[in-house]
Parts: sequence; C-alpha cells; structure tokens
Amino acid sequence: MSGINFDFSITSIDLEAYLEKNALMETLGDLLDQCASARAIGDWPKLEELSIEILRGIYKESQIDEGSLKTVLQSYLSSIVGTGDFLTDLHSGDSSRYQEGLRKLLQFLENRPHHFDSIEPVLQSAHEIALLALDPTSANRNKIAKHLRQIARPDLAIVICTQILEKTRLNYYARTVLCGAYCDLEQFDKAIEAAEVGLKFSPDANKTYPLNALVRAHTLKFKSNGDLSEIERALEYGHQSIDLKLDVYAANAFVAAAIASAKEDEVEFAKQVLEKAEPQLRKVDIAALFQAARAEQALAPTAQVIEEFDESFAEIYSTGFDSLFDLVLRDEGFIPKTIDARKMHERFNAEGWFLQGLSNMPCPTCETVSLHSYRKHFKRYGKDMHYWALVCDNCQTATDSIDYDKKEFLSISSDLEANFPVADLCVVCLNL
Ligand SMILES: [Zn+2]
Ligand SMILES: [Zn+2]
Repeated sequence: MSGINFDFSITSIDLEAYLEKNALMETLGDLLDQCASARAIGDWPKLEELSIEILRGIYKESQIDEGSLKTVLQSYLSSIVGTGDFLTDLHSGDSSRYQEGLRKLLQFLENRPHHFDSIEPVLQSAHEIALLALDPTSANRNKIAKHLRQIARPDLAIVICTQILEKTRLNYYARTVLCGAYCDLEQFDKAIEAAEVGLKFSPDANKTYPLNALVRAHTLKFKSNGDLSEIERALEYGHQSIDLKLDVYAANAFVAAAIASAKEDEVEFAKQVLEKAEPQLRKVDIAALFQAARAEQALAPTAQVIEEFDESFAEIYSTGFDSLFDLVLRDEGFIPKTIDARKMHERFNAEGWFLQGLSNMPCPTCETVSLHSYRKHFKRYGKDMHYWALVCDNCQTATDSIDYDKKEFLSISSDLEANFPVADLCVVCLNL
C-alpha cells in the first residue's frame, strides 16, 4: 500500500469509509486473537479490558456477526469469573465482583438488541451462575459446572466436578459434565473415560445422560483423528441411548454422529429418530436440515458438534414478549384454543412470533377465509427455518402445520409464501 498515491479529493468520503471499515474488521480479528492469548495464560484483567473494548466497538458497525458477539460475551464473562475462587471455594468466596460485572454487561446490552439464538443460553448461564453461587448446595455446584461450560470456562468446570467427585465418587451427573468440559478442551480420552465411569454407575433410567455424552465425545474424537472405530462407537452408544429414551437430546447427539459417519442407513434412521423426537418439525424441514448439515459437514469436516444442553432452556424462554397468544390477543382480540400435542402450547408461548399474513385459502374446518399465518424463526444444525401457527379467526383456534392434510397445507403455504415471503418479514432473517 505504501507506494500508492490516492487522490483524496475525488472519492475521499468513500475511501475513508472503506478504510475505516477495513481497519475495524482488522482490529476485531486482531483483538479476538489477543483475547485468545490472554485467556490461554489466564490473564483475566487483560481479557476483561480487551472484551470491553470489543463490545464498545462491535456495536458501531451495522452488521454484528453472531460468532464474534458470542465469543466476546464469553470472553467478558470468563474474565469476570477470573480465578473463580468464589465458585471453587463457595463458603469463603465473595461473588460481588462477578455480580457487579454481570449487572454492567446486562445494562449495556439492554439498549443494543440482537436476534441471535446462540447468545441467550450464554447470558442465561451467566445469570444462573450468579444465583447458584449464593446457595452452594452440592446439586447447585453440579449446575454451576455445567453453566461454566456455556461461558467458555471448562477449566473451572473440571475443577468443580473433580471436587464433587472427591466427595461422591459415583456422581454420574458430575461425570457427564466432566466429559463435556474435557471435550471443550479437546481432551477426548479423558472425556470418554469420565463418561464411561458415569455410565457404569448411573441408574438405568439415567444412563441416557452419559450415553449421549459418549456419543458426542466419540463423534468429536472421530472428527479430530478420522479413526473409523470412533464413529462406530458413537453410533453404537447412540442406538443404546435411543432405545432407552428417545428425546431431543438423544436425537441430536445421534443425528450429529450419523451425519459424521456418512452412512446412508444411519442417516435415514437419524431422520426417523428426529421426526419422532421433534414431531413439530415437518418432513420437508427435516430433509432440508439434513441436507444443510451434510453440506456443512462436507465443507468443514472437523467442525464442532453442536450440543443441546440438557434441562430445557425452553422453559426460560416461555415468558417473553410477542408470544403467539400475545399477538393474536392484541391483533385479533381473542386467545386461540390449541390442542395439547407436539408441545404446541409451549412453542406458541415462546417469544419471537410474527404475523405473516391472511391466507386466500379457506380454513378447512369452517370453510371461511379466516386463516392467519404466524411464523417464528428457529435454527437447527445451522439451518434457518420457521415454525408455523395457523390461527382461524372464525374457529378461534391455533394449530401447527402437522394438523393439516398435506395437500391442503401445501396450497395454504404456497399462497402465503407467494403473497408474503417469509424472508422479507422475519427480523432474524433480515439481520442475517
Ligand atoms: Zn376456521
Ligand atoms: Zn427467519
């Protein structure tokens, strides 16, 4: 660059903006690198300083990217946890510095809205740590360790789990958390060992936790070293877990293993498993998300395996603004009835719904043109999709797409998409 002479008089504004933007991007990358170095040597004051600098800068840009924002929030939270004495020595530790740091962060974020799904569990965990630290029962220490992983402090999670296991050697929950924390640090042999012991000592009904942890650990190890026996083990444990209890956690762990294995029969089985575990997902959506996940796998074969944390964060989300019920009551003046199936009530109660529009197709039940479509953005395996809620003004009911005859639904959904393309309406998609 040094030898080039720019004519500032002509395009000075554009050029300045261009240089400024480039400088910002370079600075961000550079600052994130410095964060990683500070974290590696445990220089928490430096990490705190750097993350505050990034947070201040990041919101000046028009586009904040999800990955960087998540990383910097984790860096800041990691830094205010610091050495973590208040967590490892709960009786003498003082959590006030952490509490104050968290308060400042939440205050800062309050005026800076974002629409990134992956940020909420991080903030939620930060909040949980603050609450749990005030009540250091043994069960709470298990939970603290789990939440420490969300804010990228697996090192402290390991310290706490080890303390717990010194007292209660057979605590399989602590061993499961330990497995995940070692996975975060890419120490897969230690991860597998922890979960294997957990599997041995857990009561039958609870074996699903260590089993899912083993599926994930072996999948990650396979991705790191390409050893086929690892993915075989992952699939084996996955089948055991599904046989024991088919839920969303078992399904997600198995789906990741099946896609990594690239075995057609396992992938087909994984689709069926996901369909049963998440009955609200439509067949075409499942097909689409598998396609996206396999494409991503082909592009980045060693990428991390997404993990669904156990215990539902869904409950936490159930008390937001813009639930389907809020919107329908506000816009149409009634609270729609729903049947108790496919977790519809829980999903409709969550925040983030928006009106798509009125369908030209009549309601199949009352045969009047009264069907309003509401949608809600969600993401699975990196694929952006939208839930359905069809509300009939006349019947005063709300239901998902599964309730409709396939053909009927196709004409309703194509009519809506033609008139009200969801990508133009969804704030999450618009911000991507
Ligand atoms: Zn109707
Ligand atoms: Zn969307």
